[in-house]
Amino acid sequence: MALGIRKNDVVTVISGRDKGKRGRVLTVDPKKGTVLVENCNFVKKHTRPIPQKNIKGGILEKESPLQLCKVRLFCGDCQKPSSVAVRLTEEGKRQRVCKNCGASLTKGA
Ligand SMILES: [Zn+2]
Repeated sequence: MALGIRKNDVVTVISGRDKGKRGRVLTVDPKKGTVLVENCNFVKKHTRPIPQKNIKGGILEKESPLQLCKVRLFCGDCQKPSSVAVRLTEEGKRQRVCKNCGASLTKGA
């Protein structure tokens, strides 16, 4: 996945129930093609109480993974979900840039 979304990127959800939400990427699963985004795509899970483990039963809300095609990197420069282009820097490093405004999306670059 060349234009991959990485951990700690800020992404915007572009389709589905949480459309328009923004959050930080917690984990990426390249095999499944999914990302887990902070505060997005909550699902309710019913849990049983397990007194031995001090787990209370009830409804637990938890993030669930989103398909990569449902999220876009968020560009802080143009304040929009961005398409990613990859550019080679002068040092020959791959750098992710925003297709809208050309800003670098790679942290620390
Ligand atoms: Zn931009």
